[in-house]
Amino acid sequence: MKSIIRFIKALGTLIAKIPFIIIKGILGPDEYDENGRRIRGGKIRGIGGKQMKQQTDYDDLSDAEEISTSKKFLNSLKEDLGGEIITRRDDDGSTDFLYLKFSYGERPCRVVMDPSWGTPELQIKMKNTTGILAIKHNMKMKQEHITVDPEWDAVDKRSVKLFLAPGIIIDEYHDEMSAMVTLIQEMPEGLIGEITAFIADSNVEYLLYDAMIIDAEFGSDIFKRNYREQLPAILDMFMSHCEFFESGNRNISPKPKVYISGRPAMTGSIPGITECSYCHAAVLRTAGGACGNCGAPL
Ligand SMILES: [Zn+2]
Repeated sequence: MKSIIRFIKALGTLIAKIPFIIIKGILGPDEYDENGRRIRGGKIRGIGGKQMKQQTDYDDLSDAEEISTSKKFLNSLKEDLGGEIITRRDDDGSTDFLYLKFSYGERPCRVVMDPSWGTPELQIKMKNTTGILAIKHNMKMKQEHITVDPEWDAVDKRSVKLFLAPGIIIDEYHDEMSAMVTLIQEMPEGLIGEITAFIADSNVEYLLYDAMIIDAEFGSDIFKRNYREQLPAILDMFMSHCEFFESGNRNISPKPKVYISGRPAMTGSIPGITECSYCHAAVLRTAGGACGNCGAPL
């Protein structure tokens, strides 16, 4: 009898989880590292900090130290850029995040610090009239065949990973991918290359040219990289990108957190995309070009 009750309870738990499982399926894939841990915005705490020179690892800081260190960092930026430091608090009064609000070339900008990660996020206001572009950077991201066999491949393969360079990808459903590839084809020569090189060099984990802002999430914490020194050049680069993104005549709506267009992107039916016959990554089809992922001639 007990075992029957136990079985019914287990069944009840499973049934309760089904809507959640279905929603997850609709919303698309989560990302996991190679050890199967879920990646929060591409960041995994406590990994990759061991090789740094400083005697303190950001991950070893106490909560109070994280906040004071983040504040000190923003204060150092403020010396160069001016502006004002704002603290956002949780309902319980604890610090949620801090940011430096400043103007650069008369453009409103912010450097946002989430003290628990120690990685800055740069946001620049613009009025995007050309299109949305979202690029992820994660070296663990692996290419996959874009020709999918519905008999074998799971629902979460509906989005396709387009490789601009190793680990630097656009990961979208069909409609969104089409729009982004069109946007790239409209770019002045060299711009997508500059963006890709910047992501690789600065270890940006997520770069979004959205309807109202450019948002760059850096992957290295403030102990590992001299952001103060690098920021002016990065800001200058983004100022020039604003010229392109503000030069169009499209009405752009902000990028939803999760796309639900649900149209398969794995068929290779998007003009401008091809599958590298050597590594099978989906890559941009450029004239006389090479595979963005492995370098093989296309
Ligand atoms: Zn390749």
